[in-house]
Amino acid sequence: MTTDTGILPPDLAHFSAAVAVLVVGGGGCGLTAALAASEAGAEVLVLERDASALGTTAMSTGLIPAAGTRMQRERGIADTPELFARDIMGKARGATDPDIAVALASESASTVEWLVDTHRVPLTLVDSFLYPGHSVKRMHGSPNRTGAELMGSLTAAVERRGIDVLTEALVTHLFADADAVIRGVRLRRPDGTDEDLACKAVVLACCGFAGNAEMVAQYIPEIVGATFFGHPGNKGDAIRWGLALGAAVRDIHSYQGHGGLAAGRGIPILWPLIMEGGFQVNQAGQRFSNESKGYSEQAVEVVAQPGHVAWDIYDQRLHQLMTEFDDYRDAIEARAIVSAATVAELAAATQMPLAALTQTLREVEAMVRGERACPFGRDFTAKPVLTAPYCAVKVTGALFHTQGGLAVDAVGRVLRDDGTALPNLYAGGGAARGISGPSSWGYMAGNGLLTATTFGRLAGAAAAKQTQA
Ligand SMILES: Cc1cc2nc3c(=O)[nH]c(=O)nc-3n(C[C@H](O)[C@H](O)[C@H](O)COP(=O)(O)OP(=O)(O)OC[C@H]3O[C@@H](n4cnc5c(N)ncnc54)[C@H](O)[C@@H]3O)c2cc1C
Repeated sequence: MTTDTGILPPDLAHFSAAVAVLVVGGGGCGLTAALAASEAGAEVLVLERDASALGTTAMSTGLIPAAGTRMQRERGIADTPELFARDIMGKARGATDPDIAVALASESASTVEWLVDTHRVPLTLVDSFLYPGHSVKRMHGSPNRTGAELMGSLTAAVERRGIDVLTEALVTHLFADADAVIRGVRLRRPDGTDEDLACKAVVLACCGFAGNAEMVAQYIPEIVGATFFGHPGNKGDAIRWGLALGAAVRDIHSYQGHGGLAAGRGIPILWPLIMEGGFQVNQAGQRFSNESKGYSEQAVEVVAQPGHVAWDIYDQRLHQLMTEFDDYRDAIEARAIVSAATVAELAAATQMPLAALTQTLREVEAMVRGERACPFGRDFTAKPVLTAPYCAVKVTGALFHTQGGLAVDAVGRVLRDDGTALPNLYAGGGAARGISGPSSWGYMAGNGLLTATTFGRLAGAAAAKQTQA
């Protein structure tokens, strides 16, 4: 690991320009922060290491949870920030900051409606599926349910406001004086030249450390055997800088995993398939877990199976339901989906032992009918029995992004261990501590983009306000 803390004294800087608010990272959090800072009247510049501002956000399904939106009301869904905060705390088994959970839940509807109404991000309610851990339907997504569409809309909004996004600008250092006031940043261009920019406040929106294999091995060894399916440019810079500045880092072992990445295809097979009645077996044709607990914690369960793989087993009804998702349509095109008229055909196509697969299907059928208890504690009774023809897809466990990060307050100000705020440093999205507790099991669907968009909006506005004081 590098010994460079990434912090330099301001007297080493050669500032070529000054901008009130600098945003480091141009993913969902960065662009949202930039929009909010600009609206609040500040001059803002986004610095993005890649040639295009995409990040993990563009790889995602783009679903943003929010409680109490008008889209929910239009569908007759009663939801409140209190209920949402309770769900967050429940999934995290109480092991996250309740004040932050309440703050994010309370601001979530405003964020979604602001994105839709002010910035023309085309979000609608996903009303076909209930995601694990959520009491009600509260996911809002773009027409094809893709993060690429979300990023496309955010980029268009940023362009409409005339906000500059400097790409191929890898921020390598922050300039901070002795009392941790950030005076500017140093960025490296692809030709190896450095440029120093002065600022009055910085928003760290450069996500976590999933793209840093050394840090993943050190902090999350349980997921090392999984496929990395996140943004490789996220190297943990925010954590490195924050630690050197005296910031507190929380939940460093926390992450978003996924127990359903189509093996060899790199396409997420999303969890509605499981929640609506599908289940997983290993290559021996045997179930091994309660798949409905959540997709994040399922990553380690799948990785622990022979060959690090499992099969999602489902039927035509679920196949049809899943075509709502762009990812699933990609999986069909990538020929990842196996169809079989009978159990015998399914066993042959997946090379699973027929006797074991037949027995597992019979057992699950009995669980659906309420005649037998699931040995792993899953309740199958609310969904129909799977019927032939069957479908299957081979999946593996994946690491999507990390959830540990800089401790922040309710508007994204970075905090020290004693709870005091650093003078002018903000963080959101994967750069900040999430609301998922200390491991993988606390990640509830949507926790990633909730913190990216809502902390982005709040931190951008707060940073702008500070520069005007
Ligand atoms: C397949 C998949 C599906 C997902 N689906 C969902 C979902 O439906 N809902 C949900 O809530 N979450 C989802 N997530 C999680 C979600 O994508 C992340 O939580 C979220 O995108 C994080 O946003 P961010 O802006 O913090 O980070 P990112 O989007 O990763 O943006 C960070 C940016 O910072 C840049 N950067 C990094 N370091 C530097 C540096 N030093 N200098 C300059 N730039 C830098 C990176 O290049 C990157 O563009 C999913 C994740 C994956 C992988």
